Amino acid sequence: MGTEISEGCIFCRLIADPAVETLDRDDDVVALADINPQAPAHFLVVPRRHVETISALDDDRLLGRIFSMAHRLAAGRGLADSGYRLVFNQGPNAGQTVYHVHLHVLGGRQLTWPPG
Ligand code: 5GP
Ligand code: ZN
Repeated sequence: MGTEISEGCIFCRLIADPAVETLDRDDDVVALADINPQAPAHFLVVPRRHVETISALDDDRLLGRIFSMAHRLAAGRGLADSGYRLVFNQGPNAGQTVYHVHLHVLGGRQLTWPPG
């Protein structure tokens, strides 16, 4: 269920690069600012372990750590009261572009529903 690091994976490269700025990190999970933000606040919470899709992430403990970092980050950025959206894109129809699991945290504006 996922390897530690995958050659050619952009998120594996970013996580391994000490020069890359992170918003939060622990032994299992790293948070990054999205390079192409879709809202005033747009972060990615990324497990260090390379797993391609959320459907393949069969590890409740790691899932819990991803969510708790997302909520902690959102609260730390003042989004707790205004609200925020958590999104995993799973596969082509969802528009997944990076096949290393990441949880989007979006906030800082009124988000529309349904999503496009
Ligand atoms: P997906 O479409 O797979 O759900 O989301 C991939 C996200 O990764 C996109 O929002 C995209 O902007 C972001 N992204 C792609 N390459 C990089 C990168 O090199 N650095 C950062 N910080 N984000 C990236
Ligand atoms: Zn990876």
